[in-house]
Amino acid sequence: MTFDKLSLHPEILKAIVECGYTTPTPIQNEAIPAALEGRDLMASAQTGTGKTAAFILPALQRLTTPSTSKSRGPRVLVLTPTRELASQVNEAASKYGRHLRFTTASILGGMPYPAQNRALSKPMDIMVATPGRLMDHMERGRVDFSRLEILVLDEADRMLDMGFISAVETIAAATPSTRQTLLFSATLEGNIAKLAQRLLKNPQRIQMASAQAKHENIEQRLHHTDDDGHKQRMLAHLLIDGSVDKTIIFTATKRGADKLARTLLVNGHKVAALHGDMNQSARNRVIHQLRGGTVRVLVATDVAARGIDVNGVSHVINFDLPRSAEDYVHRIGRTGRAGANGTAISFAAPDETRLLRDIERYTGHAITAHVVPGM
Ligand code: AMP
Repeated sequence: MTFDKLSLHPEILKAIVECGYTTPTPIQNEAIPAALEGRDLMASAQTGTGKTAAFILPALQRLTTPSTSKSRGPRVLVLTPTRELASQVNEAASKYGRHLRFTTASILGGMPYPAQNRALSKPMDIMVATPGRLMDHMERGRVDFSRLEILVLDEADRMLDMGFISAVETIAAATPSTRQTLLFSATLEGNIAKLAQRLLKNPQRIQMASAQAKHENIEQRLHHTDDDGHKQRMLAHLLIDGSVDKTIIFTATKRGADKLARTLLVNGHKVAALHGDMNQSARNRVIHQLRGGTVRVLVATDVAARGIDVNGVSHVINFDLPRSAEDYVHRIGRTGRAGANGTAISFAAPDETRLLRDIERYTGHAITAHVVPGM
């Protein structure tokens, strides 16, 4: 999927290209089309996954059509738990909306009132607010939500943790029932589910946290490497470690897989290759051998390894980083199965830095780099 498939306004697309983004993140892929259709959303996505753009882009798109209402107040309201998050939202709006004309106002605690009072007396396009201060203004009768079209609850779980539940509900109740509501939260369970039930209409549920959350039993490590030779030496060192049992090594190409398998065979490992050039019965045989233990090291490519379900794989080693972050998650999921712990080790050469960044953005956390003494 590319951004131009999302049918965003050309001026928004232009800004995205200028930001250097090439592909939407998973949350953006799911959330943007649904939001553009006008659906309510409840999405679980941690910070770092591109969630801000997931709601700001559809909001900006909405603003490219003029409002029919002349009254004061915002067309889009983003509620955030903190001032810091509010300023991130504002930055995202001005970054992605740099080729559009729209007005914004921040209604945040700890800031002077007069400028906020002035802003509230006029129409505006986007209001970014913390619930406490916004309630304050509402109680003084200064807020008009009659032309509100979109309500965004950003990091809703944190707003609830901070005791803002009744403020959020009061604010939502003051907005038109025709509004579209987009709820983002690290979790969609418990109180968030109850809140969503009260505030959202037939929402599309988007569960993204699984990519991050699922792999808590897998230790993920990174080794920066110089080149293929360095990777080979590092691999040889890792494979003699006593804790290494069954291992799946991933390479970028079929030829790479064959070549590495031959090298490991010469070095005395019980190894086989698995890739798409092998027919199904040859592939099945190899997987059977891995299950039975006659093969301990499998050198595989992504496509061939997709469905491998073999218990007791102690290590996954990314000899080459995958081309897509999603493949990274599939790869490491070959270890730590059936309640076991696993280790996923990635080698990253200097020309793989971009792939590494994509993976870290997708999974939402940085992989810890390790140095092996003497390597
Ligand atoms: P967020 O999860 O909204 O805090 O975003 C995390 C970071 O990812 C921000 O620095 C964004 O600028 C960046 N970002 C958002 N969407 C994309 C994308 N599609 N491609 C690359 N970077 C992105």
